[in-house]
Amino acid sequence: AARGLKKHFQLGGGLMRAGPVVRAVDGVSIEVKRGETFAIVGESGCGKSTLARLLMRLLEPTEGEIEFEGRDIAAIRGRDLRELRRDMQFVFQDPFSSLNPRMSVGKLVGEPIETHRPELSRAQRRQEVARLLRKVGLRPEHADRYPHEFSGGQRQRIGIARALASNPRLVIGDEPVSALDVSVQAQVVNLLHDLREEFDMTLVIIAHDLAVIRHMSDRVAVMYLGQVVESGPTDEIFANPRHPYTMALLSAIPEPAHGGQKARLALNGETPSPANPPSGCRFHTRCPFAREDCATTAPDLRAAGPESHVACHHWQEIGDRRPAAGLTPA
Ligand code: SF4
Ligand code: MG
Repeated sequence: AARGLKKHFQLGGGLMRAGPVVRAVDGVSIEVKRGETFAIVGESGCGKSTLARLLMRLLEPTEGEIEFEGRDIAAIRGRDLRELRRDMQFVFQDPFSSLNPRMSVGKLVGEPIETHRPELSRAQRRQEVARLLRKVGLRPEHADRYPHEFSGGQRQRIGIARALASNPRLVIGDEPVSALDVSVQAQVVNLLHDLREEFDMTLVIIAHDLAVIRHMSDRVAVMYLGQVVESGPTDEIFANPRHPYTMALLSAIPEPAHGGQKARLALNGETPSPANPPSGCRFHTRCPFAREDCATTAPDLRAAGPESHVACHHWQEIGDRRPAAGLTPA
């Protein structure tokens, strides 16, 4: 769980002059349940990667609490932080730059085993590497090869084996498939999904594309300019999106079953800079449903269903108007 999480970055100015403050994550509260797959979705610059790094304590929050298995980890340091590193692992976006090219696959996967499970002998470690490589769909003999000998999808499998090596309770994937060919994305997504069950861990997936997480995540939080605008069970978000931004994201997904045709919810203009977010509802400069109060009053994230939350003043009326606006539920 994370409560009131904020991360502000000061951009460089001149010597005596501080640059603008970017509120990359600005008051985010989410609750990830043990054993589930939780997706955080939004376009680039919405703060989702920053949020992932905060949850992992790869970044220190400016403000807020992060509770992991019953304790606040927002301020822990030293040994406790090293222990936490074992329980939480990261799968990076780019399998081409996140693996050290000079390390063999055996060393890449063996290194975290050596760090976090020093009780294992060298032979046991080698066995464990072989087991993990098999789990991710590679072969034990791949241990002697180097990352450049593999395709993108295979490299991401190596990254996943490396993440699993410390037996983590939580794995966070930052757009783990977006750098891969579309044809292998589903394979890697399915792999993560299967491994979650087998290794009894919790999975947090960061994505800019709702289609990617549709079949693998239990719940979703949609972010816009550093804030969560809607959250709820994945099925419900797809069937009944309440926030106009979620509707726009969903309407951008082509549906082959319907000949790829679907009413698009077009947004106005471009995404504003997170250094200077709009007043009131941050989405009001782009929202086709915006009214006067939207520019002045920021909507809180409020319950909109048994497990759903939405941050919009007018979500109920918008829901009623949706059929008239030609928007088909996804
Ligand atoms: Fe649109 Fe207003 Fe709702 Fe924001 S609060 S999403 S501007 S209708
Ligand atoms: Mg990112």
